Amino acid sequence: MVQRTSHTTRSIAIVGAGQAGVQLALGLRQNGYDVTLVSNRTPQQVLDGRVMSTQIMFGDSMEIERGLGLDYWQDSAPVIEGLSLTVAIDAEKAIGFEARLAAPAQSVDQRVKIETWLREFEGDGGTLRIAEAGIEELESLAATHDLVLVAAGKGEISRIFERDAGRSAFDSPQRAAAVSYVHGLRPRNSFVACGANLMPGLGEYFIVPALTKSGPCDCIFINAIPGGPLDAFGDVTSPAEHLARTKELLGRYLPWEGERAVDARLSDPNGVLTGRIPPTVRKPVALLPSGRSVLGLADVLVLNDPLTGQGSNNAAKSADVYLREIVNRGAEPFDTDWMTATFERFWEYAQHVVRWTNGLLPPAPDHVVTLLDAAQRLPSLASGIVEAFNRPPSLDPWWYDADAARREIAAHESGDRSATAERGEARV
Ligand SMILES: Cc1cc2nc3c(=O)[nH]c(=O)nc-3n(C[C@H](O)[C@H](O)[C@H](O)COP(=O)(O)OP(=O)(O)OC[C@H]3O[C@@H](n4cnc5c(N)ncnc54)[C@H](O)[C@@H]3O)c2cc1C
Repeated sequence: MVQRTSHTTRSIAIVGAGQAGVQLALGLRQNGYDVTLVSNRTPQQVLDGRVMSTQIMFGDSMEIERGLGLDYWQDSAPVIEGLSLTVAIDAEKAIGFEARLAAPAQSVDQRVKIETWLREFEGDGGTLRIAEAGIEELESLAATHDLVLVAAGKGEISRIFERDAGRSAFDSPQRAAAVSYVHGLRPRNSFVACGANLMPGLGEYFIVPALTKSGPCDCIFINAIPGGPLDAFGDVTSPAEHLARTKELLGRYLPWEGERAVDARLSDPNGVLTGRIPPTVRKPVALLPSGRSVLGLADVLVLNDPLTGQGSNNAAKSADVYLREIVNRGAEPFDTDWMTATFERFWEYAQHVVRWTNGLLPPAPDHVVTLLDAAQRLPSLASGIVEAFNRPPSLDPWWYDADAARREIAAHESGDRSATAERGEARV
């Protein structure tokens, strides 16, 4: 745990104990703030509950946790050295490449992480309230705290923040997710990697090596186009049936991945998850009936489909931006102008994540297919694509524009690394 750096009498309330809410709560405690955290589950209920994500975190996000002294699983979670990407058509590999990440990634079951962090928060003098917060709770918190933040993710309460139609490309879910946490997945024949299999017209399949309650595991994740053949979990009635259906689909559409999964068994009965996420951007400030304002955070404001594995990373990065902005505010009021500016500071980064993720939901444009194809023979381009998972702004402009894509490929072909000069500011 990092030592306190300053003391303040300011009080802050956070609703929602996920990656963003608890990380920010702990960061604020380290800076001497009086913090109330409202969670709708106790630490034990979180640990005993259902898996929530596949939560791969890339280098920059892990550095943020490390900076706060919260990276307790660095030595026990599998080290994800890189990414492998396959495009599969008619159950055959059409494109395939892999590349190592400059800094490894890791995935720690959020049940394990959040339970530990919540206990640390309580042990460190934070006030943990167990409640399903509604408007009444928000009013009461706003009347007694200098700032109220809502980090309730996909919770109903997030709807108090108005949908930003100009920044939201979709108004309905574009994928149906089905995740299983398993032991016994056969290893790859290469370095430890997060696997991404893109199946045009069907959806995606991801493999994320992770740490769960029973030790190292793999999160296997089918992300189906709604109504298509992979959207096949609606009639499933048990975790065992969920895993059996997953294996059946893999055998049919990705036979080489099906073979790896033959001996897979669930990590625990709560190691399965299904869900559909409508990608949505919301306006950052909500006005309560009393006229007081509250500020949203992370998934509450920027909810992406999980296909690029960015939500936990966004949560860590937005909590980091908010922590800095709160501390920099000193004794000045947390008024609505400050709230809006704080979110916009994060949005400068997050807009790249939204653009990239939303762009992968419809069929890929030709120049993206050309980039993936070229990455098979150009290792530096493969690295550039893989590194984007850590810093999505680095994709601008070459991922989005056919001419820029051509120039990027040509630069990699000629070994001219200055192609990277065209990339945008990378860090949040
Ligand atoms: C299938 C799937 C796979 C994913 N894989 C990845 C991945 O590999 N990498 C990645 O970076 N991201 C991934 N994500 C996304 C990532 O899990 C989320 O974006 C991230 O957890 C968001 O963090 P958060 O703190 O904003 O919200 P959450 O983690 O959702 O936390 C919000 C908390 O608030 C609580 N809450 C809700 N309402 C209330 C209320 N009224 N009162 C009190 N508490 C409340 C909730 O119970 C929850 O505990 C995935 C998501 C899914 C669904």
